[in-house]
Amino acid sequence: MLSEPAREHAAAHDAPRYGVLGWPVGHSRSPAMMRAAGLARYQRLPVAPEAFADTVRALHGAGFRGANVTIPHKEAALALATGASDAAREIGAANTLSFAAPGEIAADNTDAPGLLGALGERPARSALVLGAGGSARAVVWALTRAGADVSIWNRTPERAAGLGARVVREPMAADVLVNCTSVGLGRSSSPFKDLPLDADRLLEYTTVVDLVYRTGGTVLIAEAAKQGIDTIDGLEILVRQGALSFTLWTGLAAPLDLMRAAARDADHQLDAP
Ligand code: NAP
Repeated sequence: MLSEPAREHAAAHDAPRYGVLGWPVGHSRSPAMMRAAGLARYQRLPVAPEAFADTVRALHGAGFRGANVTIPHKEAALALATGASDAAREIGAANTLSFAAPGEIAADNTDAPGLLGALGERPARSALVLGAGGSARAVVWALTRAGADVSIWNRTPERAAGLGARVVREPMAADVLVNCTSVGLGRSSSPFKDLPLDADRLLEYTTVVDLVYRTGGTVLIAEAAKQGIDTIDGLEILVRQGALSFTLWTGLAAPLDLMRAAARDADHQLDAP
């Protein structure tokens, strides 16, 4: 008969495997968050773009049942899928892959519903989205589907055309402001220098959301909170998308509080150089 530790070891060995595909991915807080949720065999999967397709196709055989996908693979993940949700197809990117059977790759996008989950009951009749990259695409899709009147500003305005929102040259008041640019990630960039934002006019927004997260928090969230504005930071967005991926894979409700605590405690230095 197996001893208790040996039984636990054997059970852990049989447990399905999960991971986060990215390049680089060393900074990801997803392993800490997903292990806290109960996915004991969740790991980082650093994969270069040229190895992405072969690696993903081999995951089921290696015991993986799901993977999160981050920069720069979200579009490639959708292209590789044998089936995709409406959200992934319409956004044009997948952040969650499921491997239920050999040869089967199901793609989903939990970034979009994750944002809506984080917003909860907050008013979102109008929104100003800053940025036009991959995350902005998901955010515009989510807010539009939720019935918001969405405007979008991007440093390179041509890139914002075609995202399904009104492209604007100047910011305007709205219920929700969402920063989907990478401004604020590195210490050398500043939301009040690189974005068309004036700290004195932040009160034009009821809720300020910053997708960027970094150790110690971002300047945008700190300034909004200082002015008493309701804020949602990038870690909460990360937790919400991760919670939805967890539920897709396990069919269980996600332990949000455990995941939130683990994501916030992860002591990796996320500061960009
Ligand atoms: P992306 O596709 O590379 O897009 C980057 C965006 O930032 C573009 O709109 C770009 O404008 C803008 N930008 C970059 N530097 C700028 C500057 N100095 N001034 C003004 N605009 C600038 O990136 P993404 O995937 O959308 O991600 C954006 C940020 O969100 C990243 O920091 C990422 O870590 C974060 N994120 C967080 C979560 C989460 O779960 N919390 C999820 C996804 C992404 P141009 O088009 O003019 O180059």
